[in-house]
Amino acid sequence: GPTLAHRLDGLPAPATIEMSRQARALKAQGHDIISLALGEPDFATPEDAVEAAHQAALRGETKYPPVDGTPALKAAIARKFERDNGLTFAPDELMVSNGGKQVIFNAFMATIDPGDEVVVPAPYWVSYPLIARMFGGVPVHPVCDEADGFSLRPERLAAAMTPRTKWVVLNFPNNPTGGLCSESDLRGIAEVLRKWPDVWILSDEIYEHLVFDEHRFASFAAIAPDLRNRIVTMNGMAKAYAMTGWRVGFAGGPKRLIAAMRSVQSNATSGICTVAQAAAAAALDGPQDMIRDMVTTYERRRNLMVQALRDIPGLSCAIPAGAFYVYPGVTGCLGKTTPAGRKLVTDTDFAMAFLEEAYVATVPGSAFGLAPYLRLSCATSNTLLIEACQRLRHFVASLA
Ligand code: PLP
Repeated sequence: GPTLAHRLDGLPAPATIEMSRQARALKAQGHDIISLALGEPDFATPEDAVEAAHQAALRGETKYPPVDGTPALKAAIARKFERDNGLTFAPDELMVSNGGKQVIFNAFMATIDPGDEVVVPAPYWVSYPLIARMFGGVPVHPVCDEADGFSLRPERLAAAMTPRTKWVVLNFPNNPTGGLCSESDLRGIAEVLRKWPDVWILSDEIYEHLVFDEHRFASFAAIAPDLRNRIVTMNGMAKAYAMTGWRVGFAGGPKRLIAAMRSVQSNATSGICTVAQAAAAAALDGPQDMIRDMVTTYERRRNLMVQALRDIPGLSCAIPAGAFYVYPGVTGCLGKTTPAGRKLVTDTDFAMAFLEEAYVATVPGSAFGLAPYLRLSCATSNTLLIEACQRLRHFVASLA
């Protein structure tokens, strides 16, 4: 019969999706499943944003928008980059896409030739290597260690660079670990990248606002202004504004690359949904104190989780500096056997058994390129987080 394109050969489905599928199947059988598998805020979209979408639709903003975003949203994004990051962008250095994910897709499609290497520090959000591979890119994964708070050591980056390197991806605060790079880490990373003038840099700053304790976020382009002609600063509405379903992401970068990304998007999807753009502009320009409230909530949950996890013999848990995940290590549980008789060899075995025997969905660290860990999302209520930790405690205690 008709064949599929070779570019899809060997592309696995993201493990995050596989865990959710299995969780849904068990739920359908009537089991009481707690899902800590998804990276989706459990807050509502700000009312001002919903109202702005409504008004835009009533005003007739329902026609094809410009490919790279409505002038109103691009102006709001320019203000956001000034206000939050100290970055100035002209309109032709900005573009709006269907979520942060399409920013990455556009950027990689516009630049990656087969064999080009894409440096993605591990652990990583699964989409970067998967998108890179769709274009024949070869992912290279320097490791961010738990002992370093899952930050990227400049010397680890330096060791991963080769003449084939096309991109370096930075994602701090990080999904899945919540790890952050300090300003001095970022300066060291910039120093490495100065030696490689033909390398593009993607800074995925979608978790920028979700930073705890004494930690401070810094935008990579602000730390290394001399590299701005090759940095794409990516951000979006999904996490800080609880607007995952509106599908609004955006990028600020050099005009030449933004034009190429616009050309990709023009042939794929055109400009994104007009009413979603109106909502995004209202959220970016509206009151920002709801973000502070969210951060306080996520920080409390993080504290609750870290304390509960550290209390479980056999688990280790670093304190995440940001985002809304915890990433406990499960080394101490491997080699053991569950009550149902499953031998736990890998963290994937652990996550699957924990789901099927204790009904909590998580994602194994191996899905993100650093094992043996579990990623637990804190984007759910305290009650469910506490219940999930109790189930984890019992599950681990039941291992023999
Ligand atoms: N970047 C990271 C690190 C993420 O975790 C996510 C969502 O999970 C995204 C980007 C994608 O965001 P969007 O929903 O805007 O496509």
